[in-house]
Amino acid sequence: MSETRAPAIDITLLDGAGDARSNTQTPPASVASDAGRTNIFDFDRARLERFFEEELGEKKFRAQQVMKWIHHRYATDFASMTDLGKALRAKLEARAVVHAPQVIYEKTSADDTQKWLLGMDAKNAIETVYIPDKGRGTLCVSSQVGCALNCGFCSTATQGFNRNLTTAEIIGQVWVAARALGNVPHQQRKLTNVVMMGMGEPLANFDNVVRAMSIMRDDNGYGLANKRVTLSTAGLVPMIDRLAQESDVSLAVSLHAPFDELRTQLMPINKKYPLAELLDACVRYALRKKGESVTFEYTLMAGVNDQPEHARALIGLLRDFDRRVQMKGAAKINLIPFNPFPGAGFARPSDEAIRSFQKLLNNAGMIAPVRRTRGDDIDAACGQLKGQVMDRTRRSAEHRKRLQAAGAH
Ligand code: SAH
Repeated sequence: MSETRAPAIDITLLDGAGDARSNTQTPPASVASDAGRTNIFDFDRARLERFFEEELGEKKFRAQQVMKWIHHRYATDFASMTDLGKALRAKLEARAVVHAPQVIYEKTSADDTQKWLLGMDAKNAIETVYIPDKGRGTLCVSSQVGCALNCGFCSTATQGFNRNLTTAEIIGQVWVAARALGNVPHQQRKLTNVVMMGMGEPLANFDNVVRAMSIMRDDNGYGLANKRVTLSTAGLVPMIDRLAQESDVSLAVSLHAPFDELRTQLMPINKKYPLAELLDACVRYALRKKGESVTFEYTLMAGVNDQPEHARALIGLLRDFDRRVQMKGAAKINLIPFNPFPGAGFARPSDEAIRSFQKLLNNAGMIAPVRRTRGDDIDAACGQLKGQVMDRTRRSAEHRKRLQAAGAH
């Protein structure tokens, strides 16, 4: 494939680019000059098979060969795919590209969490985070440039929203991280789990997210088991039902409050889909498969949702969920101490307050792990991902104004 350069990203726009440990503007793959050519990263297996059969007049098993070259061996150049005939390679070259996102920088945290800032186009960049742990490696993947949902405690929200990511841009994040980590699916697994918990609301970009998750789970892709791919949603009820029909991944739901009034204050989406409707959809999701659980995320904010009354109401909701799904522990709860960012207007509860909240849940017989804060020295913790968003909602300007008025930086 030709040695084309990536379109220039205006790197001066990007926060923190200068202090990155490594800083590369050179794309990992040859990109651009795609003019009219199809990006193979946009195709899951079913679509790639169709592309081979219908557009190239080739056998469909070629799709699996090409997927393995790309996702197992990180090839982006058709010429290097030596088990394809010369004529087919030339045909592919003329019709398609393998266009990966551009790595703008990569940072590594003191606790080995890694973060990549990836250029999506000239004006937009998103973040992807790798969290290594004992016996597992989790990649936190973004689904949109910014987010439209405007949850008050999330820094992605302050950036406003620009657009959905394409399938290629979503699976491209996995590809960039897997390649950098030296991941070999089925052999040397560095990447064992993916969570759709980066920037954006994945269910608001349904088709592209579902297609990308299918590549994550495909043996010719990253070979992850269904339950090791988790989609986290703020609660788009109709889309939870669609997910139950079209995919088979683990579901996590951002709950954050056991009362409608409080939840609406924190998460405006609750106005449209209040708790009762959300929990109904979660029950339907869990019931579609025997033994299925749903994880509820609960970000603890000091004085806001961390009081005993909140814990008691939360216990009630979780018990009710278990009863309806007819399985003890069907509702898992994950406590996330609030991660601060400039102008957030919320604070992390003291360790003691976090422990007492957890204890109330434990006393009710619930396992309620507190998610360890990882990568906060490189702003890679939950709710700290920012990237660079050409904002179409003007929310980022409003946030800057509020910060200036408050005298913050
Ligand atoms: N939009 C999806 C994906 C985001 S996942 C969703 O809402 O689920 C990221 C998780 O971190 C969500 O549970 C989110 O509510 C939570 N979160 C956001 N900002 C946070 C912050 N500042 N501190 C801790 N958790 C936060």
